[in-house]
Amino acid sequence: MARGLAAVFQGPGRPSELLEYPLEAPEAGAALVRVRLSTVCGSDVHAWTGRRASPTPGILGHEIVGVIEALGDGPPCGLDGRALEPGQRVTWTEYVACGRCLACAELGLPQKCAHGRKYGHESAAAPPHLLGGFGRFCYLLPGTGIVRVPDELTDEEAAPVNCGVATMAAVVEAAAIEPGDSVVVFGAGLLGLYGLAMARANGAVSVIALDTLPARLVLACRFGADEAWNVQDLSPARLASLVSDRSRRGGADVVIETAGAPAALADGLRLLRPGGCLVTAGLVVPGATLSLDASEIVRRCVTVRGVHNYAPRHLVAALEFVRAHREKLPLRDLVDARFPIEETDAALAAAAERRAVRPAVVPWSASHAGH
Ligand SMILES: [Zn+2]
Ligand SMILES: [Zn+2]
Repeated sequence: MARGLAAVFQGPGRPSELLEYPLEAPEAGAALVRVRLSTVCGSDVHAWTGRRASPTPGILGHEIVGVIEALGDGPPCGLDGRALEPGQRVTWTEYVACGRCLACAELGLPQKCAHGRKYGHESAAAPPHLLGGFGRFCYLLPGTGIVRVPDELTDEEAAPVNCGVATMAAVVEAAAIEPGDSVVVFGAGLLGLYGLAMARANGAVSVIALDTLPARLVLACRFGADEAWNVQDLSPARLASLVSDRSRRGGADVVIETAGAPAALADGLRLLRPGGCLVTAGLVVPGATLSLDASEIVRRCVTVRGVHNYAPRHLVAALEFVRAHREKLPLRDLVDARFPIEETDAALAAAAERRAVRPAVVPWSASHAGH
């Protein structure tokens, strides 16, 4: 039986092990994909560093682009309703949902499916084993929302689409950004950078980025920010005054939090105009407690919304955004480090230490020194 090599997560602080698992023939509705490239997402880093519990042994990585190797009976269709075929390059929803539970059928939140499973978040102990991106093959369970990647997109442009970019598509929908709006984005990692670009594409006229790394502030301006400021240099009062000066309504219409720092939520609320909306997407790790004057929410009639992951339509929208904007925005520059599968831990470390925006694991490349 053919086997698939993977970098297997053994727990926080322990080196990953290169192990081979048997390749299962896809069951009805399933697919086996040969992985071309996987990018390291913040939640991979949270698992690797122990901030989020993740089963072991497991295969991390869920921002994946690959080529269909084999299809089960059915065979599965793409989200566009067209039949899939071996040899097609695809990406897919980072989760599988049942379509029948309360969250799926009534709440419109398939990402919160009661029976859901998530790529890069599962145990590798039982078949089909290969449910993560940091391996040479990935098994797509029946019910996965699969999309074909347009030929013109590079693997680097396509890989982050099914988590970071699709999540930001959901955030921007929740924020309902309109032409003329003033938007502030906390955090200029991949989510924040796409947030800036999507806000601009929706017609925002004042777009401000906040981060602490000078290189990210430079990148933010290339992604559509009018101005990018180091939050460490500004008091909350000074920041609110600067944002107010640049808005035609006395404050930001929309604030987007992608920084993962609880203080950004409290600071962000103060930037909103009356009736504005703050969408938080970065505070994904439990324990993000903060001290907050909640009367700010009531007295200023603002809305606070949380967005975690996305629905399949956001994956389709995200892929279309990348296709439409790849000539104008330096999207491919976001994958700024590449590692062979043997150096998956080094890729995770590069992301954890914020030395790279989106390091990639390229599982079929030969190991080599230097990158
Ligand atoms: Zn992710
Ligand atoms: Zn469900």
